[in-house]
Amino acid sequence: MLHPCLSCGACCAYFRVAFHWSEADASLGGVVPPELTETLDPHRLVMRGTQASRPRCTALQGVVGEAAHCGIYERRPSVCREVEPSWEFGRPSAQCDKARLGHGLAVLTPDDWVVAATAA
Ligand code: SF4
Ligand code: SF4
Repeated sequence: MLHPCLSCGACCAYFRVAFHWSEADASLGGVVPPELTETLDPHRLVMRGTQASRPRCTALQGVVGEAAHCGIYERRPSVCREVEPSWEFGRPSAQCDKARLGHGLAVLTPDDWVVAATAA
């Protein structure tokens, strides 16, 4: 099965990815690699690359729209875990749709998940 996100990656190259600094502080249980972050303000960090005029998270591997994945999947920030791919859970996702359209990709539909499940 090819999960639709593995041929996308658009949301990792569209938004500023900001989160509380404690998520990169191992002494507080944070798991995000601090060297891949930079300071946004006194309370928040961002993933490197996501503040650029054409954002692309430094942890994103591959080519958007072809083959892409998160290089720190198990250690990604909470905001990344909260992004839902459209229709994976039976509902659309504004973030997913916006990112895909921003990269010239069609939004996902319920049929994309039928195809993915059939291919499993
Ligand atoms: S934009 Fe949607 S389909 Fe693409 S990687 Fe993000 S959640 Fe997955
Ligand atoms: S940390 Fe991973 S999931 Fe989050 S934006 Fe970067 S590449 Fe995407």
